[in-house]
Amino acid sequence: MIDLRLKVDPLPLDVPLIIRLREQTDVELGPHDVVLLDEDGDRREYDYNGFSVGVYTRSGESMDGDVLLLLPGQPSAHRLIRANSEHNTFLVTEQCDQLCVMCSQPPKKHHNDMFEHFALAALLAPQNSTIGISGGEPLLHKHRLFEMLSVVIETRPDIRFHILTNAQHLEPSDIECVASFGRDRVLWGVPLYSATPSVHDEIVGKVGAYKTLEQGLAVLLRAGASVELRTVVLQQNWNDLPALSEFISTRLGFISFWAVMQLERIGYGRMNWTSSFKDTSTDFDPLARAIDIASARGIQAWLYNSRPALFLRPIVRMPLQRFLTGNVSISIFAIVVMHAKLVVVFFSGMIMPRGFLHWGHYEVAVILDSVVLSGGVFSYENDSDANRRARLQKKSGPNRS
Ligand code: SF4
Repeated sequence: MIDLRLKVDPLPLDVPLIIRLREQTDVELGPHDVVLLDEDGDRREYDYNGFSVGVYTRSGESMDGDVLLLLPGQPSAHRLIRANSEHNTFLVTEQCDQLCVMCSQPPKKHHNDMFEHFALAALLAPQNSTIGISGGEPLLHKHRLFEMLSVVIETRPDIRFHILTNAQHLEPSDIECVASFGRDRVLWGVPLYSATPSVHDEIVGKVGAYKTLEQGLAVLLRAGASVELRTVVLQQNWNDLPALSEFISTRLGFISFWAVMQLERIGYGRMNWTSSFKDTSTDFDPLARAIDIASARGIQAWLYNSRPALFLRPIVRMPLQRFLTGNVSISIFAIVVMHAKLVVVFFSGMIMPRGFLHWGHYEVAVILDSVVLSGGVFSYENDSDANRRARLQKKSGPNRS
């Protein structure tokens, strides 16, 4: 469990305060640095220009370089930057213009403009950090967000951003600004749940969302931006996944990659679990087909938050079925390589601190690599041989059997 809020001793603040915790004294100190004076159990005392700042945290945990936001009258601080983490995200607003069935952070009406403080926190982040920008919908406050990005991108050439947005508030007049951020500095994470407008609109709870999203994606395309398309697997879009994959790989080939993820049991996802969760460990075929289509057309597809059973069942079952029925188009060597990799992935997942139920990019990339190696193990049962051969030839050249 990561502590994102830390108890602090009350300070007589009348405006928000950003501080960076320093445990080493041999580094150059700036005006926002507070230096560790003493540690007593879970309380650490820092010096801030002659004033004492008391912060409570787990004993032994390094907080050197962490950036905290302290708010007037609040007994806890927001830990905006954890210096030891690669995953720091600023929740810049809780307002949103959608009402997605799976929302993990259900929208709120009120908004506190803290962009100035987020900018300062980003400027104090460790070298080469990537900072997530999330909401709510960050682009509801587009001009403030763009100001913040401009300042940080210009001042800290090493910092990158990953912005999660529904992309519906981008307009042609933003192209120049988005382009100026740089393709390698900002990755735009944009959700697309179906290639059928009514299905997408129903999932996000907003009529016309798909059409506006198309315009937003066109802005990102024309700005030369890096885009990660994001799709949550749901009952609502389950049968649409192959068509969505077709759409992405034929119409949105400019994207950097496609992230496909399972529903998280939190927020509205928890509330709508029965009507939205799709158990891919019992039925994997439309998702397999979608991945196959994307991979064959050169789109990188990554799976997140998936259980081992999700992969193991079809991976083990389908080659076996094909072998037993004589419908084998993949080499024994490829299967052996693939399963060897799976064993490695399984055990590395078990010993990783984040737990084997949450595999990261690397492990999933290895699995997809195995799929490609195997020549399409995820191919579906009713695929004709002619189609399959055509796909494999496209992928691997005419000599692949
Ligand atoms: S998941 Fe949907 S409703 Fe929730 S913040 Fe994102 S866009 Fe808004």
